[in-house]
Amino acid sequence: MNILAFGPNGSGKGTQGAIIKDKYGLAHIESGAIFREHIKGGTELGKKAKEYIERGDLVPDDITIPMVLETLGKYKDQGWLLDGFPRSLAQAEALDKALQESGMKLDYVIEIVLPREVAKERIMGRRLCANDNNHPNHIAFEAIKPVEKDGKLVCRVCGGELSTRADDQDEEAINKRHDIYYDDKTGTMAAVNYFKNKGDVKVISVDGSKNIKEVSESILKELP
Ligand SMILES: [Zn+2]
Repeated sequence: MNILAFGPNGSGKGTQGAIIKDKYGLAHIESGAIFREHIKGGTELGKKAKEYIERGDLVPDDITIPMVLETLGKYKDQGWLLDGFPRSLAQAEALDKALQESGMKLDYVIEIVLPREVAKERIMGRRLCANDNNHPNHIAFEAIKPVEKDGKLVCRVCGGELSTRADDQDEEAINKRHDIYYDDKTGTMAAVNYFKNKGDVKVISVDGSKNIKEVSESILKELP
């Protein structure tokens, strides 16, 4: 079984991908890992990609698509779940064509639907406990909300100090990623719509505003 997973940053796509991968024994392939693998392995494509990345430029599709395809091909028999690619309509069309030519069939597209403001809130609301990484705190989730102590928010489990991850508070970077994701003309939403309109692959759209368990249940009930 081969699956594409879509969802904005903050939608829990990585978590859901891991649940599905475990259930079906799929290879969970993240687009970032494909780049790293090729660059580390010093492949021709990796060398080319590295030049773009080092300049801070986007790696063009004629390098990315063959890289993705090569990695997917390795898991042809096992089946795969691809996460974080395609990001644009052009990439969706190119990937679809390349998959057909390679004889690999795309079975499902999973889309985790979440309003942009909520996705942003979910990223920015994460809090880290100074005492224990396993004490989840989040200002937007009632169940794991930090508690107030002396006018300050502290860990709901141990009362420890809370901090944020710098990446999570980088609003500009979050907005930039979401600009690409929510773009339904040429961006990632356009890629999702491409598969919806094609009609020969089943698109499973689920409400990402529910909790992790509810979201995974609504995905799994649509899968065989
Ligand atoms: Zn704590």
